[in-house]
Amino acid sequence: MAILPILCYPDPRLHTVARPVQAVDERIRLLVSDMLATMYDAHGIGLAATQVDVHERVIVIDVSEERDQPLVVINPEIVWASAEKVVGDEGCLSVPGIYDGVERSTAVHVRALDGEGQPRTIEADGLLAVCLQHEMDHLLGKVFVEYLSPLKRNRIKTKMVKAQREARA
Ligand code: ZN
Repeated sequence: MAILPILCYPDPRLHTVARPVQAVDERIRLLVSDMLATMYDAHGIGLAATQVDVHERVIVIDVSEERDQPLVVINPEIVWASAEKVVGDEGCLSVPGIYDGVERSTAVHVRALDGEGQPRTIEADGLLAVCLQHEMDHLLGKVFVEYLSPLKRNRIKTKMVKAQREARA
């Protein structure tokens, strides 16, 4: 298991569209175990492969209090989303320190493969539903700040670039 470096907004690689996983083989299993280690190390509740610069449709999530219920989501497709929506504050490991409101469906059904390559349908609501929608956006090259106003987004971009420059100095 390895802790992988996480890309930080506004890194252009975060806007890469991921391709479907062809086979859940040893390479993907290793990626999943590295992504889980990276997510837990960073105290995140979800991580998309895009964020570790691997552009394949793989997500790991753990929204449990005890951090002991890893969920592996490969090639996810939303098959149903509730018309009911809610605005909640979101954060992202790729945009550290920034939290802002994003509107999401309150419930979704997602068809995906699990870590063993078995098909399953996840019926999610609450935090898990929001997390799935947030992580699936990453696979399409979309970061949550893109839902915010251009003014807010530019302010965040400037702040991130400055923080990254200071971190390197
Ligand atoms: Zn994110």
